[in-house]
Amino acid sequence: MPRAGENQLVVKIDYCGICGTDVESYAHGGPIRPVIVLGHENVGTVVEVGPGVTGFAPGDRLLCGPPTQCEELCPSCRRGETNVCIHGFPRTAGIGGPDGGYAEYMLVRDVRHTLLVKIPEGVDPRQAVLFDVICVSLHGIRKSDFKFGDDVVVSGTGPIGLAAIALLRAAGANRIIALGTTSAKFPTLKEYGADYCLNPNETGDLAAEVRKILGSEVGADIVFECAGNNPSLENCVYKCVRPGGQVMLLGTIGAPMTLVPAAFSIHEVDLQTSFVYTPGEVKMYLDMLASGKISVGNMVTDVISLDEVAQKGLGRKDRRGQIKILIDPSR
Ligand SMILES: [Zn+2]
Ligand SMILES: [Zn+2]
Repeated sequence: MPRAGENQLVVKIDYCGICGTDVESYAHGGPIRPVIVLGHENVGTVVEVGPGVTGFAPGDRLLCGPPTQCEELCPSCRRGETNVCIHGFPRTAGIGGPDGGYAEYMLVRDVRHTLLVKIPEGVDPRQAVLFDVICVSLHGIRKSDFKFGDDVVVSGTGPIGLAAIALLRAAGANRIIALGTTSAKFPTLKEYGADYCLNPNETGDLAAEVRKILGSEVGADIVFECAGNNPSLENCVYKCVRPGGQVMLLGTIGAPMTLVPAAFSIHEVDLQTSFVYTPGEVKMYLDMLASGKISVGNMVTDVISLDEVAQKGLGRKDRRGQIKILIDPSR
């Protein structure tokens, strides 16, 4: 049981999400270094408030973990781009910071640079805890050139892809084409708002198929890469986007890119990156959940205890059918 020192909080974890980054680090040793307690997608209840902390009281339910604007006000934070704060990564609880949410109680090491957002009345904590996934897609869509009425392609059927589909539907996309290599997921993709689903491995000429759906000689206006692998990236850049269109990278591709720039630069394809989200976008997500303006569907497919983390969480053998697994330490 940690104790709250100066500028610290102790939070009783209600739910902690298991992130793809956690699974990757558990299996292959990166990018999170040992030895830390994992867990950066947390919702909990304040149980102890340290000296110097204002605005929080025991009993407050909040979301906590990722960094916010740094105390040093680095050049990124000065521009409001806290998602690319130069101090951000090492201060993210459960990634660079030692105290993550795979625990009954989590120490918020320094409230001054930890993202802490109170959860509005009426918001289901199991929806709120999805902020890490949803807001990656939210930020990417906001940063992209997407406009109301655009035709879009979303490549990837994991939580980021599903969130992108749901948000693009809410944001007024015209036609949403989802690409996935597991055809069994197509009904789920349609539930989230995809109009068409294509399996690139089973589609002879993907570019022709996309154009046929769009009734156009060219591809989609904006294409979101959410699968995080090179075959998906190549499909997005070479086969799905229209000349002058944009490919937004939301998936984390941990391998060297295999793209040939000359093959897409002649079409002036805009290749853009996006990284996490800002505190304002997290608040936006919670507000829109509270007011019912967005719904992200039932992404939580399993809730497990701390004892089950190795077997049914990080080391789970069969991930098919799973979207988001939460840990409930009270189990
Ligand atoms: Zn995450
Ligand atoms: Zn900063």
